[in-house]
Amino acid sequence: MKGDGPLCLNIVDLPPEGTVLEGAVASDEIGLEDESRIRCPGPVRYRLQAAPIVQEEGVLVRGWVETVLLVMCDRCLSMAEHLVRADDVCHHYPDEEGNLLDLTSDVREDILLTFPQSSLCRMDCQGLCPSCGKNLNEGDCSCSQGKSDEGPWEALSALDLSPGGEE
Ligand SMILES: [Zn+2]
Ligand SMILES: [Zn+2]
Repeated sequence: MKGDGPLCLNIVDLPPEGTVLEGAVASDEIGLEDESRIRCPGPVRYRLQAAPIVQEEGVLVRGWVETVLLVMCDRCLSMAEHLVRADDVCHHYPDEEGNLLDLTSDVREDILLTFPQSSLCRMDCQGLCPSCGKNLNEGDCSCSQGKSDEGPWEALSALDLSPGGEE
């Protein structure tokens, strides 16, 4: 229901010096999990200062929002935790939308924009074996034996140390 969430602000009562919205909201109130590669297990924390704009009509909202997202790794498809924080939230709302200002969709955007388009569970994620699909971060699969998935130096030393080459 629009208009009654924790991130709704009654701008009729907004004092000239502004007000602070501070707290945490459950992620399902924001709808962060609409994205199939993203889970948001915990709350979204926020501190937002809302103040009327003196020269023009409208409200200025500034502050930060943060949460922990579980995001699907582009290489291995596992869900990895990322702390995301938007430090420079700044929205200007023209005074056109009635008595209630609903910040929910903008907070959602702030969080999603903070997050990079591509994501890895870690910088050196090994990904999935193209043959059998095993997650190579959890160890080698049987089809990777005999060829190296560990990098060029491992491959070289495996060749150099091979005793089978002597005959
Ligand atoms: Zn990964
Ligand atoms: Zn494999």
